[in-house]
Amino acid sequence: MDYLAEKFLKAKKIPSTACSGCGLGQVHKKVLMAIDELGLGSADVVWGTGIGCAGRQTFNTWKGDNFAGTHGRVYALATGLRLALQPEQKIVLTVGDGDAFGIGLLHLLHCIRRNVDMTVIVADNFGYQSTGGQYGYTTPSGSITDSSPYGMQDPNWVQDGRDILDILKSAGAGFLARHTSVEGQNAVESIKQAINFKGFSLVHIVYPCVTNFFGKALGSRKPVDAYRWLKERTNPAQDNLEGITFTTGVYHKALDKRQEFSEQMRKFTGNVQKRCQS
Ligand code: SF4
Repeated sequence: MDYLAEKFLKAKKIPSTACSGCGLGQVHKKVLMAIDELGLGSADVVWGTGIGCAGRQTFNTWKGDNFAGTHGRVYALATGLRLALQPEQKIVLTVGDGDAFGIGLLHLLHCIRRNVDMTVIVADNFGYQSTGGQYGYTTPSGSITDSSPYGMQDPNWVQDGRDILDILKSAGAGFLARHTSVEGQNAVESIKQAINFKGFSLVHIVYPCVTNFFGKALGSRKPVDAYRWLKERTNPAQDNLEGITFTTGVYHKALDKRQEFSEQMRKFTGNVQKRCQS
């Protein structure tokens, strides 16, 4: 077993039940590397998961405390935990693109509005892959999927001048980054910054679903084809490339920090208690 898996994950959950060649393991490993490099242990982090492939493959793998929520509700559970936990304890959530940018988006926006201290890792596989490969909120336009046999025509959140990270920034997110699963240490460094950020942070990581998305859109289930496709579109240089590209790196880091939700609530309830006693 890999050193990080042995250190942080439950042995009975290894190997993962993800399809062979799935990029989810790469996403998961980067988060473990970040935790390890920050010198954190399994008692320092509470790990929550959402629904879909990202949630299912990550759920209950962490040796420390963990929990799962239905679509979008994982943020509400994490908010309650944030109020109960010691401020130095970290909350990391692994969610899919549906949990973050679709069904769960409104819940995510309100969590950001409140500036709850947690780190959300969005593991984006371009659609509803756990239910057979229907198109979703980040499916590249024109893609052949289970529900778009003639090519996806529905506008998505990441093309044609739209970027979901703009919306999250406007809602008040303090730290935002984007990466792809084929990247290395630069992605780990962003996750480390996100975990250390006091307030809400999110890292969007695109990864290949070899079974459904790439099997249908590219017509190949060979991991080598899926990884080549993603690598060719991974653009850490911040320059403009034609077509589908993922500009990667830190997208936004707030200079003026907003008050964090649990700190504000502790202060507020302390003042109310004092007034009630006087
Ligand atoms: S369906 Fe796709 S995203 Fe889900 S585990 Fe299989 S390869 Fe990974």
